[in-house]
Amino acid sequence: MQLIWDEFLKLIKQEAGSQIVETWFKAVSLQDWNLATGVITLKAPNQFISKWIQEHYIELLKKHLSRLLNVNEIKIIFICGGQESQQIRNIIPASTIQSTQNQLHANHTPQISLDSKQQQSKAMVKVSKKNQYNHYGNNLNENYIFENFIVGPNNSLANAAAIAVVDNLGKVYNPLFIYGGTGLGKTHLMHAIGNAVKKKYPNITVCYETTDRFITEFINCIRLDKADQFRSKYQKLDLFLLDDVQFLSNKEQTQEIFFHIFNNLYEEHKQIIMSSDTFPKEIAGLQSRLKSRLEWGLVADIQIPDLETKIAILNKKAEQNKINLPSDVANFIASRVISNIRELEGALVRVSAFAALINTHISIELAKKVLLNLNNPKSENASLETVLKIVAKNFDVSVSDIKAKKRYKEIAEIRQIVFYLMKKLTNCSLQVIGSFVGGRDHSTVIHAIGKVESICSNDLDMAKKIKRIEQEILMN
Ligand code: ADP
Ligand code: MG
Repeated sequence: MQLIWDEFLKLIKQEAGSQIVETWFKAVSLQDWNLATGVITLKAPNQFISKWIQEHYIELLKKHLSRLLNVNEIKIIFICGGQESQQIRNIIPASTIQSTQNQLHANHTPQISLDSKQQQSKAMVKVSKKNQYNHYGNNLNENYIFENFIVGPNNSLANAAAIAVVDNLGKVYNPLFIYGGTGLGKTHLMHAIGNAVKKKYPNITVCYETTDRFITEFINCIRLDKADQFRSKYQKLDLFLLDDVQFLSNKEQTQEIFFHIFNNLYEEHKQIIMSSDTFPKEIAGLQSRLKSRLEWGLVADIQIPDLETKIAILNKKAEQNKINLPSDVANFIASRVISNIRELEGALVRVSAFAALINTHISIELAKKVLLNLNNPKSENASLETVLKIVAKNFDVSVSDIKAKKRYKEIAEIRQIVFYLMKKLTNCSLQVIGSFVGGRDHSTVIHAIGKVESICSNDLDMAKKIKRIEQEILMN
C-alpha cells in the first residue's frame, strides 16, 4: 500500500506540483482497497485535511488511484485520525460528485473551529465547493469563466482564439487546439468557452470531457455492447471540448472512435476544441491521420506567465476568495512560484490557511516561512552566478569587471549591489560570497550590504531598480 501511495504521490507531484503534495497529500495514507466493491479507504490526520482534499482534489485522486489500482468505478472513503473503518464519515461515489457535496454538507462539520480571523480560510472552503464539476449534463465548472481568466502575453493568442470561437461557433478555428504545460490554464479556458457558449446560445448542446473519462466511458460502453450509443451521443453535440488528448496515446480503439466522431462533427461544422500538454505532432502513440486533423484549425499555445501576469492572477484569486493579500506578499509569491499557476494558487492557499490557523495576518515574513521549501534552491554556485550575471547585465558591465580588483566608484557600487543581493537571495555565507566575487573577505561583504541599505533609503530610483533586478533574479 505504501508503494502504491508513493507512486500516487509522484503522479500528483508531476501534475499538481510538489507543494500540493507536501501540504495535503503527504499526511494521508492508503489504508485499504477492495477490488470487488471498488472502495478505497484513505486516512487523513484530521477533518480539515480530509475535507480540503475532497473538495479540491477528488478528481485527481480518482483519476490516478483508479489507474494505479486498476479499478474502474472507484469510491473513496476518508477516515480521520484515530477513527476506525467502521466509523467512516464519507462515501464518495465515483460518478456523482453532486452526492459528494451533499455528503459534505451533511457530515462535514469542520472540527477545527474558525474564529473571526480564520474566516479567510472558511471563505476559501465555501467558494471552492462551487469548484466541483457538475456531472449532470455538460460537465462545465461554473467557476472557470472568461471574467476570471487573466490575460497576459503568455496566453493572449489562446484567449483571443477562444473568444473568436465563442462568437463564430464552428465557423472559424475548427478545431481549436490549445496546448501548454501543466497548470497554465488550458482547462480553465476550455470551461470558459463552454460556459460562454451556453450563455450565448442556451439551446445548443455542449459537452466537456476529460480524455480519461472519455476513454473509461468508451470502454464501459464496449463492455455493454453500446459503442453505437456512445458514438451517437457525441455526434449530436454542437460543441465538444476534449481535455488532455495526450492521454489518447496508445489507446487504439478510443482513437478510432474519436476519429469518426471528429470527422462527423467537423463535416457538420460543429465546433471541436481540444487541449494537450504538447503540440499535436509531438503526442506519442497517436495515429498520424488523427494528428494531422488536430492541426486542421488553429493551434494556440499557452506559455509560462511573466511576473506581472502572475501577480494579477494572485490578486484575482485573492479577491475571489476574500483574502486580504498585501502587494509585497503577492510579489513575493509570484516571484517564488515560477511556472505553474496551480502551484501559484496552492502557495496562496497555503499562506492564507496558515495565517488563519495561527490567527494572524498575511505578511511577507509569514509567506517566507510557509514557502520556505518552495523551489529547491539551485546549487550555491549556480545561484551566485545568476545574481552576478543579472546585475552585470542590468548595469551594462561585464562579469569579469565586477570580479576584478577595479576600485573606481561605479564598479565598486555595482559590486556592492551584487553582494547585497547575494546575501539576500541565496543561503551562502559571507565568506563564500566574498570569495566568489574575486576573492574578497567577509568584512567587505558586510560593509557592502550596509552601503546598499543606506543607498536604498536615500535614493528611491536606485531602490526601485534594485528591486526590479531582484525580481528578475528570482524568476531565473
Ligand atoms: P491546465 O489545464 O493547463 O493544467 P488549469 O486550467 O487547470 O491548467 O489551471 C490551473 C489553475 O490555474 C486553475 O485553478 C485556473 O483557474 C488557474 N489559472 C490558470 N491560468 C489562469 C489565468 N490566466 N487567470 C486566472 N487563473 C488561471
Ligand atoms: Mg487541465
